Amino acid sequence: MTDCIFCKIANGEMSVPPVYEDREVFAFADIAPVAPVHVLIVPKRHIGSAHELGEADAALPGKLFAAARKIAEELGIAESGYRLVTNIGPEGGQSVGHLHLHVIGGRKLKWQH
Ligand code: 5GP
Ligand code: ZN
Repeated sequence: MTDCIFCKIANGEMSVPPVYEDREVFAFADIAPVAPVHVLIVPKRHIGSAHELGEADAALPGKLFAAARKIAEELGIAESGYRLVTNIGPEGGQSVGHLHLHVIGGRKLKWQH
């Protein structure tokens, strides 16, 4: 999608160092981290949110989660624990309309509603 910032980051139009990358997935540091580790994992293909995943996308969530596991191991938070979050829509707290998984860790997290 032409005007989507995460499409631009994932396809290299905007140069952002990858934390992890494979054929379908790109991961990079959040610009406003809420914890010592705060990485965003996005599909390279534009999908608006998790709510827009269809049956044809059935394999994609597994790829996002597998990337999260690799990133957590690489960044040393696998054993201490971490949080995976995907926000959906305005009341869900989504501010960028391209599906992304937050990987948040490196400190003791509180649960917020
Ligand atoms: P959301 O609020 O949609 O769940 O998460 C969007 C996240 O993207 C926020 O945590 C925000 O800090 C991050 N973000 C927004 N714009 C940029 C950007 O241009 N570069 C990076 N690295 N992160 C961004
Ligand atoms: Zn996009």
